[in-house]
Amino acid sequence: MRKHTTAVALTAASALALSACGTAEPGDTGGDGGDGGGETITIGIKYDQPGLGLQKGADYVGFDVDVAKYVADKLGYGEDQIEFVEAISANRETMLQNGDVDMIFATYSITDERKEVVEFAGPYFVAGQDLLVAADDDSITGPEDLEGKNLCSVTGSTSAERIKDEYAEGVELVERPGYSECVSALASGAVDAVTTDDIILAGLAAAQEDPTAFKVVGNPFSEENYGVGLPQGSTEQCEEINAAITEMIDDGTWEELVATHTDGTGYTANEELNPPEPAACA
Ligand code: GLU
Repeated sequence: MRKHTTAVALTAASALALSACGTAEPGDTGGDGGDGGGETITIGIKYDQPGLGLQKGADYVGFDVDVAKYVADKLGYGEDQIEFVEAISANRETMLQNGDVDMIFATYSITDERKEVVEFAGPYFVAGQDLLVAADDDSITGPEDLEGKNLCSVTGSTSAERIKDEYAEGVELVERPGYSECVSALASGAVDAVTTDDIILAGLAAAQEDPTAFKVVGNPFSEENYGVGLPQGSTEQCEEINAAITEMIDDGTWEELVATHTDGTGYTANEELNPPEPAACA
């Protein structure tokens, strides 16, 4: 990656170690951002979100993965120069701050709070927070029906925060590290509902052994603008990524990727909000 990114990522101690024994830092993996050269780029994704970021053997598949590959290609990195690593919701800011990753494509909503510690390119997609419930459960049609219910969400997500801030009073919020754990809790009856972005819930429901077991309520109650997480101070790179996102939308790739990765889930993107226009970089 760019030299300034590397410099920010290195602490004095690790810089010493680097010069002493020539070992690279985990985040010190990229090329020059122009042509990639022979170097690699480390990209954080989700591993357990079908349709978005999913580990399949040695492979990674999903919309976020393909958007990451498209953007990396525009920055000069071929597929074999990308190292994907898992970035669970709670670890994203820290991974960027520590230089463990060069960028993150992981259903990562742009928020003012996060912008205090990391930078975002994009958005490249807009989702909305919704609820996943058992297919035969008609008692929950929106967040106001959660009074007295057990609800699962993921630590470090906007979904858990919103429930805590706006609806927590009568809700028993159960937090798990990943959404697949939440779906297991729903399947076992330990919770009554799972909450996060509608596109994530649709992908999880469709990937179950019985894809008719759960349903997405279909009453979204937020706007989740998916951004590309970058270390603070990556303005130049943010601009390059925004240009790549615009190109991806203009050349038809975006639409194709959304269609491919939501196929069979019953999910349709909110057409008023999608495709979004990337915002100005900080
Ligand atoms: N988009 C939300 C967030 O960034 C929820 C999904 C997630 O946890 O990745 O927090």
